Amino acid sequence: MTTPVVKPNVVFVLGGPGSGKGTQSANIVRDFGYVHLSAGDLLRAEMNSGSKDGAMISQMIKNGEIVPSSVTVNLLKNAIFSSKSLNFLVDGFPRNQENNNSWLTQMSTLVNTRFVLFFDCPEEVMTNRLLKRGESSGRSDDNIESIKKRFNTFKVQTMEVIDLYKKDDKVRIINSDRDESSVYNDVKSLFQSLNF
Ligand code: ADP
Ligand code: C5P
Ligand code: MG
Repeated sequence: MTTPVVKPNVVFVLGGPGSGKGTQSANIVRDFGYVHLSAGDLLRAEMNSGSKDGAMISQMIKNGEIVPSSVTVNLLKNAIFSSKSLNFLVDGFPRNQENNNSWLTQMSTLVNTRFVLFFDCPEEVMTNRLLKRGESSGRSDDNIESIKKRFNTFKVQTMEVIDLYKKDDKVRIINSDRDESSVYNDVKSLFQSLNF
């Protein structure tokens, strides 16, 4: 008898820069045992590894541009299939239609893409959080020039992907303009209600 192949579950975590994706993902990992894969973290690790794509990734991150999916989807795919976990948070992805199309082509038959967890937060609040984070993050993009470019990319490219998932009723919106524990109360209720 062959063992049935169980596909991993993927929840996309999206929202503007500084909306709290990483912070809330850590809470979900702690309480629900998901594996957290941040596309941005994977790209920064790739950049620091001496990869041939390092210079391109570095430049694009500083300018708030979206790295080609040929890089990003491979990083995510390797991370998912080198893990034994069944439940993944894919944070900061898909950031544009090109990301989404590559995911659909390469991953849709291999995983169950369940829904988009979307953190909704005003720009002014996100700006203050990112500038504060920039005091210690060492990130090349936590400065006001890069932040403005990141917001523009988010509005022009990422929101249209969110809209696509909204049409399929696959977006769960959480107001993240509140303190961390209030935001997490809503996130926790949502994850407790899931039936996969
Ligand atoms: P993202 O991954 O969406 O860019 P982060 O989770 O890294 O955002 O959060 C950005 C910054 O804001 C971090 O310094 C984090 O500690 C802080 N932060 C996250 N959530 C909140 C919140 N609800 N209230 C205040 N600060 C927050
Ligand atoms: O999510 P995070 O803020 O860590 O992303 C940082 C940067 O990494 C983005 O502004 C973008 O330049 C790059 N990135 C990307 N494609 C993704 C996710 C992040 O190019 N899917
Ligand atoms: Mg993050």
